[in-house]
Amino acid sequence: MKITAVETLVCHARMRNWIFVKVVTDQPGLYGWGEATLEWHTRAVVGAIEDISQLIVGEDPRRVEHLWQMMFRQHFWHGNGIVRATAISGIDLALWDIAGKIANMPCSQLWGGRVRDWVRTYSHLGGGKMEDFYETSVDDAKQFGDLARRAVEDGFTAFKAMAVPPTMPLEGLRPIRLAEAAVAAMRDAVGDDIDIMVDCHARPSPAMGLKFGKALDPYGLYFFEEPCWPESIDGLAAINAAITTPVATGERITDLATFRELFEKRGCEVCQLDITHCGGLTAARRIAALADAHRIALAPHNPQGPVSTAASLEFGFSQPGYIICETVHNDVPWRNDVVTEGFTIEPKGRIVRPNTRPGLGIEINEAAVKQHPFEQELLQRVFYCDGSVGDW
Ligand SMILES: [Mg+2]
Repeated sequence: MKITAVETLVCHARMRNWIFVKVVTDQPGLYGWGEATLEWHTRAVVGAIEDISQLIVGEDPRRVEHLWQMMFRQHFWHGNGIVRATAISGIDLALWDIAGKIANMPCSQLWGGRVRDWVRTYSHLGGGKMEDFYETSVDDAKQFGDLARRAVEDGFTAFKAMAVPPTMPLEGLRPIRLAEAAVAAMRDAVGDDIDIMVDCHARPSPAMGLKFGKALDPYGLYFFEEPCWPESIDGLAAINAAITTPVATGERITDLATFRELFEKRGCEVCQLDITHCGGLTAARRIAALADAHRIALAPHNPQGPVSTAASLEFGFSQPGYIICETVHNDVPWRNDVVTEGFTIEPKGRIVRPNTRPGLGIEINEAAVKQHPFEQELLQRVFYCDGSVGDW
């Protein structure tokens, strides 16, 4: 059995261009689907997949780990830069899909069988009017309460909001009070039985992240995400040690060694590995083992497209330390034209029942994808009040 081609299909889906990866074999009808979506780097990832595919075309697709090693190591630069890691991830997902199809079982069955009956999901409310806190009032911040109520009406028992504004390395009380007002409004709106998460989007400095974390600690957040840059593992560890709320991070980490350092320094309690950026399911399973050794929970970052979701869920059904999965619901109205999925979502509680199809259980309608060709993403720029550049 041989790989004959690695193809990419780009599908513009409002916020992002989904990059689907199709690994084709010489066996009639046997192929696998992966995803390598990377916002603002679509052309680079498509090119990287074309480059990397040269290493594996002609090889046996059943040797998933061996092919991962080839893709990661058999060129001068290791595959842990974000573009190469995403390209490898997309191909790796497709190889696991093929493995499941050959075995005629869902991937979670290949990995030892299901460890749970369902997976909990959460939605992302976005950032409301928090982009410029000089222009945002406490009343604006209170609108997070309406967003929260809507998420619960949509069936979710957990949601996340970017309720922390972008800030310079040090600021006074104003942004802290806004974040408090937003979180208080959400808690008032939904009560204590719903889990609320706050995403700082890695904007604060460690000092500001600590201030936000301390201020929001009394609201009993389920987790507090990326309270400072991911490069600052010491900063993450200091914040995690100083507050009761569990710190979550990991979506921007693309190599095992950095996950090891993050866990060893106790930079988080929740690991948000992204299966389309961390090296695919092959690498995700290694990261999960490391997390397990530190008793750190798994909650994958998953704002991408349907193959990323299918892979993140299949992973969740196989990992004991997995607590919840991010989902994007209502992303594009034509989603069901492009993809059919093997799992089912129960509207009440937004829990997912297992995939019953082989592999990742995904089928992509290539003709429908072609209705939505590449479009440049809208630039999301942040400047502070003095005109200096901030993080989006
Ligand atoms: Mg995030």
